[in-house]
Amino acid sequence: MNAYLLKNGRILDPAQRLDMRGDLRMREGRIAEIAPTLTPEVGETVVDCTDCWIAPGLVDIHVHLREPGQSYKETLQTGGAAAVAGGFTSVCCMPNTDPPLDSSTLVREIQERARRESPCKVYVVAALTQGMRGEVPCDYHALKQAGAIACSDDAFPVQSAEVMRRAMLGCAAYDLPVVTHCEDKTLSEGASMHAGAVSARLGLKGAPSSAETVQIARNALLAQETGCHLHIQHLSTAMGMELIRFFKAQGVRVSTEVSPHHLLLIDAACADFDTDAKMNPPLRSEADRAALTQGVLQGVIDCIATDHAPHAPFEKAQPFPAAPFGILGLETALGCVLLWNSQLPDPLEPLQIVNLLSTAPARLMGLPAGMLQVGAPADVVVIAPNLSWRVNPAELRSRSRNTPFKGWELIGRARYTFVDGALMHSTD
Ligand SMILES: [Zn+2]
Ligand SMILES: [Zn+2]
Repeated sequence: MNAYLLKNGRILDPAQRLDMRGDLRMREGRIAEIAPTLTPEVGETVVDCTDCWIAPGLVDIHVHLREPGQSYKETLQTGGAAAVAGGFTSVCCMPNTDPPLDSSTLVREIQERARRESPCKVYVVAALTQGMRGEVPCDYHALKQAGAIACSDDAFPVQSAEVMRRAMLGCAAYDLPVVTHCEDKTLSEGASMHAGAVSARLGLKGAPSSAETVQIARNALLAQETGCHLHIQHLSTAMGMELIRFFKAQGVRVSTEVSPHHLLLIDAACADFDTDAKMNPPLRSEADRAALTQGVLQGVIDCIATDHAPHAPFEKAQPFPAAPFGILGLETALGCVLLWNSQLPDPLEPLQIVNLLSTAPARLMGLPAGMLQVGAPADVVVIAPNLSWRVNPAELRSRSRNTPFKGWELIGRARYTFVDGALMHSTD
């Protein structure tokens, strides 16, 4: 059982710079063999991968699985099901749960529950400060011992530079990346979208780009002094991208991610008060969107992450200013990225796409994923890269339905997703 032979696909592994037509064998949960042609063995299930990519399972380093405390939005099980349906085999969950994941006990508990309940692998990003209150750094030694892979207060970014500096020193000592949502709350207070012509017309309070860029600059300066690995979440502004380019050139250990929605959408998506277009950071201007695209092409942006943020229908049904921030991402990410890529004058190669969605994010967070090395765990996705499909929220595996891509025609979909050699998702 659980022996599969993937036949005649385009095998893509950025970690080995491998791009070849051939077969891949999985046995006992591991990648057993890769070759131009392999002969089926007794007891093996043969999967025809003609016209498909065979890639390392996708890795999303920014998701909200909502447990503990908010299982009406998502659970480890439904979030994991959404992940494998989207081609993801490893995800990193954020700590803004109820209670927040700020102790070794909670980190251990979520890891143990995820092993039993989630169809994909779940790595825990623990809180950066106690209770995510931005006042007292956590016990990073204990969090690391418990298995946390990074620390972040995501939606509740540390406002005090002094606290952030201490948190960075602490995390650097235990080689934990400091993962930050960059937002100066004094600039974004009360905002529900990007500040610009659209917010002015709708009469909604907007957050200026500086709400993000001020904290990107501050955090990068502090990272330079403390030597921590700073990872900036969901980059949304052109100037933020230029700042990261600058600090990278200075040799600062800074990395960043962009979400599929910031590559495809702008603030105009909020024009009919669609709360499924409300997220934080907000959708910005076309100039920002175009700059983020250039940031990916030029390698300033390291990877793509979804910020999968499920909210229940009754929460998103509120008036725009009252509705919570956040949208689903796991099941639409691949189709959105391949749609975005298809619109580029000079599209990225498949190997580069797989790098952005798997190998690069795994490396950034030090995860044992994002590669097809023989002997490695068989976390593998078979992708139909040219398949057009329409997003129907009713068909999503997530417990929530909040996607701005409802009704969109996307390109590319995960056909089969294997985790440790076991088939966890199939479109057959
Ligand atoms: Zn955030
Ligand atoms: Zn987030």
